[in-house]
Amino acid sequence: MKEIVSTCIYCGMGCRLKYIVDKDKLIKVLPCPEDSVSNGKPCIKGLSIHEVVDEGRIRKPMINKNGKLKEISWERAIDEIYKMMKSFSPDETLITASGKVTNEDNYVIQKFVRSVLGTNNVDSCCTRLCHAPTVAASEDCFGISCCPDYTSEMKDVDVLLVVGTNPASNYPVLFNKMMEKKRKIITVVPLFSETAEYADIVVKLFPGTEIAFLNCIANIIAADLKEIPGQGAEEYRRVIEKYDVKSVAKICKISEKTINEVASMIKSSKSFGVMHGMGLTQHTTGVANVHSLFNLAILKRGKIFSARGEINVQGVGDMFASPNTLMLSKISERIKRFWKIDVPEERGMNIIEALCLDVPKLCVVSGFNPAHSMPDLNNIHKNLRKTFLVQADSYFNLTSRFAKLILPTPLLIERDGTITNYERLVRRVTRIREPIGLPEWKIYSMLAERFGARGFNYKNELDIFKEIIKVIPDYEGLNAEKIYSGIDEYAKKERKIERYMPEEFKGTEEMRSEQYPLILFTFRSRFQFLSSEATSKAKSLRQMYENKPHFHVSIEDAKRMKIKEWDYIKVTSKVSSITGPARLDKRIPSGFVGAHFHSEKLLVNKLFPLCFDTRCFTPNLKLVAVRVEKI
Ligand code: SF4
Repeated sequence: MKEIVSTCIYCGMGCRLKYIVDKDKLIKVLPCPEDSVSNGKPCIKGLSIHEVVDEGRIRKPMINKNGKLKEISWERAIDEIYKMMKSFSPDETLITASGKVTNEDNYVIQKFVRSVLGTNNVDSCCTRLCHAPTVAASEDCFGISCCPDYTSEMKDVDVLLVVGTNPASNYPVLFNKMMEKKRKIITVVPLFSETAEYADIVVKLFPGTEIAFLNCIANIIAADLKEIPGQGAEEYRRVIEKYDVKSVAKICKISEKTINEVASMIKSSKSFGVMHGMGLTQHTTGVANVHSLFNLAILKRGKIFSARGEINVQGVGDMFASPNTLMLSKISERIKRFWKIDVPEERGMNIIEALCLDVPKLCVVSGFNPAHSMPDLNNIHKNLRKTFLVQADSYFNLTSRFAKLILPTPLLIERDGTITNYERLVRRVTRIREPIGLPEWKIYSMLAERFGARGFNYKNELDIFKEIIKVIPDYEGLNAEKIYSGIDEYAKKERKIERYMPEEFKGTEEMRSEQYPLILFTFRSRFQFLSSEATSKAKSLRQMYENKPHFHVSIEDAKRMKIKEWDYIKVTSKVSSITGPARLDKRIPSGFVGAHFHSEKLLVNKLFPLCFDTRCFTPNLKLVAVRVEKI
């Protein structure tokens, strides 16, 4: 029996865990008391990884012939992809990197796309669908593309404003850090959140009105200050001055007293902090929402803590796996020097443009389940049938049904390399057993060889990481050997500027109407992770999770519509209808319906029309106007 320390496979906290392995079989997962992130208290999802590593895995490359999957060799699979890449122009190809794989994998993926195919058509789902607004706002306000502060700084925070995240349920490790010290907590929750149970003030504002609320709080605080800190202060003051307590109370449907109490608590704080998550980013106003929160943090010289999605969501962005050429221009000189090519000049396609609007002929997706996770799923399913879809993943999922070619790739703990966690801490990933399938860096190196391209003959992951340190400016100075020996190091994350990005409240994105009188909102369970292809395999998580995916209906609305427990209902938005059982939930206010987005048996994303933040293309996946009928 061996005890091997590696990272978790799930969320952006990137906890370190102890894996007990017997003859290549993962027997058990234990906390790692020395881990500075979890402090030896990881969450139940991490501790149940041994229940998910063997079931439902893709084990061999497969080709879809007339609706039937047939096993093929790796040589044949690589040959098929090579032929497809040769037969379409680079503009007709999209390749995705992933927050589920290592920095080394993501670096090689984007290098292949740029240096071999000669396009910037590379993107990642976890950045685009979840946290691109956080990165964009960090760049605008602080000149860096990551969370600007360290979680260790939370210990000094005396007032913490939590907006658009529910750490008690979704980030238990961050929640533990939040609760380590007695401090005042304010939660801003449109509907309900377990974190609110621990808050000193709970602000239940109308969904989508956060900008008005945050501007109003800033206005009250700034009114007492002759001069306010930060660049663009006067313009910021001019904007927030319009947000008086009386009108904002009406917009947000909260009392004036609540607004004044929040403002006075923040005003009296000596060390302020803010925390946010996808409740703020997955909106058509995602960047503006995050700007408004960061503006308030700058005004109070506060600390910022961003809860992030997948384990390597920070790393995949850091590896430049994005079609954004502006970011790329920062490293074009280094790319010329090390890759001996010019960076492609045109901005590439992101996954929203590619899968919703202008379907490419070839899509190679890694660790991404577009058939489940994208908005407007009826349209996505139609588009996935039109493209030659190659799926590289560890588990079969809904996307497998649309794939023409399926490649098995190892789980993170079956790989070697590094990840970069939510606060830009670069951590070693150690392979705990023989991998099932091939990691992306090997797949793309094999493809590069078929193209006759140079620069992909890496000996191992360390070899790639040493190149990363030379090419990626924010990783310059990291000690590869030290990190590979298991000692964490932070990539660069100092604030370069502190600049306000004033934002106006322009109305909520999804309005009720006579035809669609309710608002459906999506939320997460602490016992499942994203599209749940891994967590749904864990017996211990299943036992604690809802036994049948269902809608959560308010007691009042259920009574009005004569809906009883487990009655089937039809929920219709302007783009689609789905049916499922209903449960009566006293946490849900009248006028709203809730649903988790984890299960493919209740595909709530079908109800969301394609509406996205025009800066980042991050879609609204939080709120949609619907009508409900009992069937
Ligand atoms: S899911 Fe997140 S919080 Fe839980 S153990 Fe894994 S990394 Fe840590």
